[in-house]
Amino acid sequence: MAIKIFLDELQNEQLHLEGELTPAELELALGEDEALMQPDGPLAYALTASESDDMLIVFGRLEMDFTAECGRCLKPFTFPMDIPLWAVALPLKGDDAIEFNGDSVDLTPWLREDILLGLPQHPLCGSACEGLVFKQETPPPAVEEPSEDWSKLDDWKQPKS
Ligand SMILES: [Zn+2]
Repeated sequence: MAIKIFLDELQNEQLHLEGELTPAELELALGEDEALMQPDGPLAYALTASESDDMLIVFGRLEMDFTAECGRCLKPFTFPMDIPLWAVALPLKGDDAIEFNGDSVDLTPWLREDILLGLPQHPLCGSACEGLVFKQETPPPAVEEPSEDWSKLDDWKQPKS
C-alpha cells in the first residue's frame, strides 16, 4: 500500500500515518550492479500530516535497514537508516502544486527520493575500517650504500707504505 493522504481527512486536523512499505511498494530502484546497498526489509514510517496555508506538511520518522558492502574492505554489513525528523512541505495550490490522484496524494515519490539521498555513496562498515589488508611482504634488503665500497677502493688505491 502506498502512503496516501486524503485531503478531505485533513480538514483542520492532523493525520497520523503509521505502517510499513516494502521495497517493491517504495519502488526503490537500486541497480544490482552499481549499488553497494540493497534493502533488507520494509520501510517503517510514523508520520503526521497537516494542511496549512495551502501546503501539505508531512513530518515524522523513517526507518529502513539496508545490507551494504563496505566500499573499503568489501565486507557485507547492515546499514540501519534512521531519519528521525523527515519533513516535506508540498504546495497544494499554484503553479508548483503537486499532482492529485483523485482526492489523495501519494507520498511515495518523496519518500523514495529522500531515502535514496540518505544512502551513503561510499558505505563503510565502520569509521575505523582499514580496508583490504594486504599481506606485508618482507621488504627487500636495503641497498648497501656504495660509499663504503668506494672508500675501500680508495684504501686499496692508496700506495702501501
Ligand atoms: Zn570495511
